[in-house]
Amino acid sequence: MSNSEKTALIIGGGMAGMEAAIKLGGAGYQAVLLEKEDHLGGIMNQLYGSFPRWDNPQKMAEQKVKMVEENPNITVKINTTVKSVEKKDKSFSVELSSNEKIEFDAVILATGFGFYDASEYAEYGYGAFDNVFTALEFEGKLKEMESWDKKDLPKVVAFFKCVGSRDRSKGYPYCSKICCMFTAKEAGLMKDLNPDAKCFVFYMDYRAAGKEYEEFARSVIEDKHVRYVRGRPAKVLPDNGKLMIRAEDTLMGVPVEVAADMIVLANAMVPSETTKELASMFEAKTDQYGFIDYIPGYPTQTGYRVFFAGGCGFPVESLGAQYQGAAAAAEVIALFNQG
Ligand SMILES: Cc1cc2nc3c(=O)[nH]c(=O)nc-3n(C[C@H](O)[C@H](O)[C@H](O)COP(=O)(O)OP(=O)(O)OC[C@H]3O[C@@H](n4cnc5c(N)ncnc54)[C@H](O)[C@@H]3O)c2cc1C
Ligand code: SF4
Repeated sequence: MSNSEKTALIIGGGMAGMEAAIKLGGAGYQAVLLEKEDHLGGIMNQLYGSFPRWDNPQKMAEQKVKMVEENPNITVKINTTVKSVEKKDKSFSVELSSNEKIEFDAVILATGFGFYDASEYAEYGYGAFDNVFTALEFEGKLKEMESWDKKDLPKVVAFFKCVGSRDRSKGYPYCSKICCMFTAKEAGLMKDLNPDAKCFVFYMDYRAAGKEYEEFARSVIEDKHVRYVRGRPAKVLPDNGKLMIRAEDTLMGVPVEVAADMIVLANAMVPSETTKELASMFEAKTDQYGFIDYIPGYPTQTGYRVFFAGGCGFPVESLGAQYQGAAAAAEVIALFNQG
């Protein structure tokens, strides 16, 4: 049932956008959810497992999609994005890529994050050598490896953290926040697939600040026997069918060499180009990197009509993205309730 003529546009059908739509629809407002791909779910569809509870990410996304589909106040438009925006006094006239023009009273950006180009670290061989993957690519590889013969599974897998993040010389001095956790998860999942594999995580820092995070990462080290080596690898070179990693263990003060079958790079999460374009179209505030920025005190004090949730604001885990989706919906509901 709808209790208002007011309509919100939500751009991005990942966990953040879907949660925002569900909360708005549940409150009786009309929500139009745009997704540029041919299905909802965002990055969750590409994950093999999830921290901090080893849940099935596809199932988590499917449950949310079902709630969206069952809500009569939500209209989903897949394969659709925004073409142009005309700002009016208290609304936006938005032209969609389908050439349809719709008037919206508020907008929530939920377009997710983008990724740092790992090939900029030429010394790690991404794009140059086979078997060097980004963390997201490796989630797909894990799925693929499920059907491999045990003898073909990698015996040594090395994970490099902070690739691009916390590196001023690359322009991203911030910590991407969730890669310590998904690296621990991927190393743990690799061990589940092949308990005989040796997994090494090369790290500069170890950040597990979140409910159940420390316990999760500890269990990967203690129960699944993933080895953490403190030190940034200097170089990767192909050597007799292996990838030879040279690093220094800075805790032990000794050089380390690992001959790996696969290398996984936790490349930084950065603002996506589509987020930057939409921010400019809707005049949303952005920070120095291009993530959407929070404006304290809106909407009640300013009548501002652009909100955001999830990875387009900063790297965030799935649960955090959903909380932000709910919070953005609450801001829109507060604005709409002003009449
Ligand atoms: C390698 C990796 C592993 C991870 N593992 C975990 C984990 O184990 N547990 C966990 O909690 N989190 C994990 N995460 C984080 C999780 O993926 C994010 O928290 C979640 O995807 C954020 O949801 P979102 O809705 O903000 O963004 P997304 O999932 O990126 O969704 C954004 C959606 O917006 C759409 N979109 C973008 N631009 C437009 C546009 N212009 N018009 C229309 N639609 C658009 C996209 O197609 C996409 O569907 C992982 C992330 C990575 C990279
Ligand atoms: S979360 Fe961990 S891996 Fe990611 S940038 Fe921060 S310290 Fe590095």
